[in-house]
Amino acid sequence: MRDPRYDILFEPVKIGPVTARNRFYQVPHCNGGGYRDPSAAAEMRRIKSEGGWGVIFTEQVEIHHTSEITPFIELRIWDEDDMPGLAKMADAIHSNGALAGIELAYSGANGPNLYTREVPLAPSHTPILTFTSDPVQARAMDKEDIRNLRHWHKLAYRRAKRAGYDILCLYGAHGFGVIQHFLSPRTNQRTDEYGGSLENRSRLLKELISDARDEVGDTCAIAVRLSLDELAGEQGFSNAQLRDMVAMHAELPDLWDFAHGTWEACSGTSRFKPEGAQEDLIRGLKQLTPRPVVGVGRFTSADMMVRQVRQGLMDFIGAARPSIADPFLPKKIDEGRIEDIRECIGCNICVTGDMTMSLSRCTQNSSFMEEWRKGWHPETIRPKQSDAKVLVVGAGPAGLSAAHKVGLRGYEVALAEATAELGGRVTRESRLPGLSAWARVRDYRHGQIAKMTNVNVYRDSALTADDVLGFGFENIAIATGARWRRDGIARYNLLPIPLAGSMPVFTPDDLMAGSLPTGHVVVYDDDHYYMGSVLAELLVQKGCKVTFVTPATKVAEWSFNTLEQGTIQARLLETGVDVRVTRGLSSVEADGVTVACTYTGRTERIGCDAVVMVTARLPEDGLFLALKAREAEWADNGIASVKLIGDANAPAAIAWATYAGHRYAEELEAPPIGDALPFRREVARLKD
Ligand code: ADP
Ligand code: SF4
Repeated sequence: MRDPRYDILFEPVKIGPVTARNRFYQVPHCNGGGYRDPSAAAEMRRIKSEGGWGVIFTEQVEIHHTSEITPFIELRIWDEDDMPGLAKMADAIHSNGALAGIELAYSGANGPNLYTREVPLAPSHTPILTFTSDPVQARAMDKEDIRNLRHWHKLAYRRAKRAGYDILCLYGAHGFGVIQHFLSPRTNQRTDEYGGSLENRSRLLKELISDARDEVGDTCAIAVRLSLDELAGEQGFSNAQLRDMVAMHAELPDLWDFAHGTWEACSGTSRFKPEGAQEDLIRGLKQLTPRPVVGVGRFTSADMMVRQVRQGLMDFIGAARPSIADPFLPKKIDEGRIEDIRECIGCNICVTGDMTMSLSRCTQNSSFMEEWRKGWHPETIRPKQSDAKVLVVGAGPAGLSAAHKVGLRGYEVALAEATAELGGRVTRESRLPGLSAWARVRDYRHGQIAKMTNVNVYRDSALTADDVLGFGFENIAIATGARWRRDGIARYNLLPIPLAGSMPVFTPDDLMAGSLPTGHVVVYDDDHYYMGSVLAELLVQKGCKVTFVTPATKVAEWSFNTLEQGTIQARLLETGVDVRVTRGLSSVEADGVTVACTYTGRTERIGCDAVVMVTARLPEDGLFLALKAREAEWADNGIASVKLIGDANAPAAIAWATYAGHRYAEELEAPPIGDALPFRREVARLKD
């Protein structure tokens, strides 16, 4: 039962004409599916309704075709064709008693209109300010444009109400919405009554909200989402200006939702930002308005949530990532099951789904965006098919996930791990600078397994093919992981390069095992995600002089997708790492390395004492191959299936491994599907 300490989180809170059942507020978040995968996005929200959230929002919904953010895939409310998908999502959100919120976005200077080819509109003449520096400018709106903009909003309000939404939120945060472009002196250089003073810059917001009240305010709450600070100093819409604005318009919306700065600043990873990082920026805002306030901060700790409410920082606990990692977070707190919470690790793999326009995935919650496609659920799974027993070899993220979910199905499971520690790469990597929260991948699964009487864990158990054949388990999952290569092979070098034997060459595995280079170290990163930069940080901490060499144009280039790239590069530059981009490794000599410019091929020498190769990995698939070679003996030994999963199958990020473990459990003893697709999808109907 619920700990009375947390009762305050379950108080109903009024938002204008509607009332939320509790203080858990899933703020809008993208999912990489949007209008392309409407049923997948709707079912994902339905699961959150089941999980007890009081308010559940859509992702950003583009209100009019004159402002869209192609290539990114969100939702649209352009005409009647969009209504069935939006209504389906509202119904899904309502299914278990949550209020449905819709985030209405007019992107202004943030929308290049690559799809609709309309000329973008903004407060002032401005280049399109998005991730991709498109060669497009927005035209400054004249009065007629502003009248049109108000009209387009009215159409969206009426449609949103008709689709069943309870809360209409105007998006003006993260630099993504026209409201912020009007509020900020940087993007609003108008000289009419919409520019200049704060009162003038907030005029559009005032008009849009009063229009919303006239249209739908009797039944729908009207909210606004703003950044706590644009992070552009006094030139931008600063925290001080926000405070003045909230004081000036204290009763304007039914609810204030405060996000932060840019999206990068708002959704910082755990490597750079702790839980509740925006506390100083939000403190005092609630006292300026009688309306309820929402704040975010990657909240996963119920005690932290209670403190935020008790100290008057916010009325609603806003959450995107914590609701993705655990859609049942409110329910678990309500039922006194704190230890069952699957805490977000703050890795931003979910964000990469939006940034790559694919479907989002989550490291912790493998069912995220598979709820409709595959029928996966974050908490339940169909019962076992038979009394067959399952052996899982390797207790990294793949093996732990497989053992947990197979155990949940009710099978007898043995999880054998070669070392004394569980967690595999997650345990090793969580000891690196900034990555401690990643251990939650292990801790959640180990915690769940520890409660299951049908799952037994065997440590210090390095298994051979003979062991596996002799044990008598019917189904075997091999999750034996991967190791980093030492030979320089990755993307730039697909074939081996000359390596002088006298130069010490380390891999990330060596460093994680405590074997460290000294002196001047070249970290060669042809992996392009976090590992190279994390190891560079580690080596600086250990007193090494570090030269970071990469064939990419930026440090940790792929981490653009996790919104970390800029912060990582700044961190390396600030800690004194010598950064050499667009340089591929040609050879390693006794006293240094030769690198080549990736554009011109011109070579240069960098003298060093050691090299750390952050390149590709090789699967540890020896056990699987040995078993495969003895397939003829399987039947006699009672073996029905042997499957290779996770990094041992093909190395990737941790989220791929947890997914592989979950998938193994879902598909164990499932009927064959032949040539059918292993997921559902929605294909657009052709118009006549
Ligand atoms: P993944 O990301 O796929 O889960 P990891 O490398 O994190 O892979 O984990 C693999 C785990 O498997 C490691 O903890 C490793 O010690 C263990 N392992 C490797 N080979 C064996 C084996 N033959 N028997 C038991 N455990 C093994
Ligand atoms: Fe949290 Fe990572 Fe899951 Fe995103 S992908 S919700 S950051 S655990």
